[in-house]
Amino acid sequence: MTRLQAELERRRRAGLYRRHRLLGSPQGPEVVVEGRSLLNFSSNDYLGLAADPRVAEALARGASRWGCGAGAAHLVCGHTEAHAELERELARFTGRARALLFSSGYLANLAMLTTFCGRGDTLLLDRLDHASLVDGARLSGARLRRFRHNDSAHADRLLAEAKGRKLVAVDGVFSMDGDLAPLPELARSCARHRAWLLVDDAHGLGVVGEGGGGSLEHWGLGREEVPLLMGTLGKALGTAGAFVAGSEEIVETLIQQARSHLFTTAAPPALAEATLRSLEIVRSEPWRRERLARLVGRFREEAGRLGLPLGDSLTPIQPLIAGSNERALAWSRRLEERGILAVAIRPPTVPEGSARLRITFTAAHEERHLDRLLEALAELPR
Ligand SMILES: *Cc1c(COP(=O)(O)O)cnc(C)c1O
Repeated sequence: MTRLQAELERRRRAGLYRRHRLLGSPQGPEVVVEGRSLLNFSSNDYLGLAADPRVAEALARGASRWGCGAGAAHLVCGHTEAHAELERELARFTGRARALLFSSGYLANLAMLTTFCGRGDTLLLDRLDHASLVDGARLSGARLRRFRHNDSAHADRLLAEAKGRKLVAVDGVFSMDGDLAPLPELARSCARHRAWLLVDDAHGLGVVGEGGGGSLEHWGLGREEVPLLMGTLGKALGTAGAFVAGSEEIVETLIQQARSHLFTTAAPPALAEATLRSLEIVRSEPWRRERLARLVGRFREEAGRLGLPLGDSLTPIQPLIAGSNERALAWSRRLEERGILAVAIRPPTVPEGSARLRITFTAAHEERHLDRLLEALAELPR
């Protein structure tokens, strides 16, 4: 057996093997997976916009106007009027001076951490922060410290010992747990220790806050408390890509220095047209957030009554903690037999011993979909 084969075999035995599921349909509450129709409780398409015909139409119109590829990096000749308009709208939506597009949230996080931190500086991350923040921290060369999940007192103690420029980076809504970071406390610590606070709002933007403004709207925080804000476009906004919103100097510095802005091709301009359309829908259709809140409320009430191991989340991300990888996989398989897609999430995406089903709701789900989910969950072996 080769070394690679042995390693693959080890993963299989540990219940850690992963594989691609093949979808044969667009995103939606019902998807076709390898020929079978399943009720989908695994996507991040929180507002149900990924396959919205108005957004798809904007993409198609964009493609007839701009063609497909951007053809170059933003700083060469790939930055179109469509990109610029989307950046202006995102700045307006987040109430900041400027916004800068990236091809993905992963790249946006690498950009911020490597640009605003380096050798001799200190970066503080929550233990449950997204992997792209961890990778950005490593790439930055700064000293990396991790604080206990949502423990702002711990973060404050680490900040007191920190050297150089200091930056605290957290998920606004934690991707695998759905709980919110205690941003007001973290912002106070940052102000006390002259540190910058960075919020990765991949799961908050469009979903949290009355107007869908995200975690900062929810907590009533602004540019002074949180100078660095990252939002992704591939989740609630239903398209793809990401942006950083901040002051004039922050965005100009990223343009000059961020390697994941400089050395990558701009996303297709048609995609910017599609995102402009979905941003309009995020603003004008608050019923999507209201529907989500109703579904989540009912799910928590009834799942609680069934004694299911709910997490501490009020967002559309509702983990059911199984513990072992085998148990999470068994639950997921059992649901799939009942026609429900709820993917098992295992280490290293979540800490050892906390494998789970990550159930997510979207504004496209209906009460009858939730009925079916609850019926199937009631029958899980425990
Ligand atoms: C999904 C996600 C990212 C990465 O965004 P992509 O655009 O998918 O690369 C970054 N941070 C968090 C918290 C995420 O959930």
